[in-house]
Amino acid sequence: MMNTAVRFLKSLFLLELFRGMRLTGRHLFVRKVTLQYPEEHTPLSPRFRGLHALRRYPNGEERCIACKLCEVVCPALAITIESEERDDGTRRTTRYDIDLTKCIFCGYCEESCPVDSIVETHIFEYHGEKRGDLNMTKDRLLAVGDKYEKEIAAARAEDAPYR
Ligand code: SF4
Ligand code: SF4
Repeated sequence: MMNTAVRFLKSLFLLELFRGMRLTGRHLFVRKVTLQYPEEHTPLSPRFRGLHALRRYPNGEERCIACKLCEVVCPALAITIESEERDDGTRRTTRYDIDLTKCIFCGYCEESCPVDSIVETHIFEYHGEKRGDLNMTKDRLLAVGDKYEKEIAAARAEDAPYR
């Protein structure tokens, strides 16, 4: 009997409605945490592991010396390397593929590289539309490295004190 009376009074004076409006009002003027992606982005760590890139030295020479450490350490077997010796006695890759459909973005390849050649960049907005689009060949990896070298170098410099 008592419960029914309370429920009746609550309904009569729209108590639940006012309680809800009070909650809405409380959140109306506080700072919003929702970002309007893709116009707005969250800050990214310099260690962010996005799309891969192969880097060059400032003189344009490829950093990669075809040691294959990255290929061996890759737990997903996503990296395929073929190499040959050049006329000057140095070793360079003739093929360097990363299958992004296998990659788990663990960062082991980047960590294992003795010459900072293979890196994972801040780029995460990419996609493939047909078979092969997510197979990153050496040319495509070098092109990413060439395009974003400034950002890659800055991220590595920022992270250097912690390595
Ligand atoms: S990030 Fe990990 S899984 Fe991807 S290519 Fe590098 S080592 Fe392999
Ligand atoms: S990217 Fe680095 S670890 Fe991989 S083969 Fe080249 S030099 Fe070796």
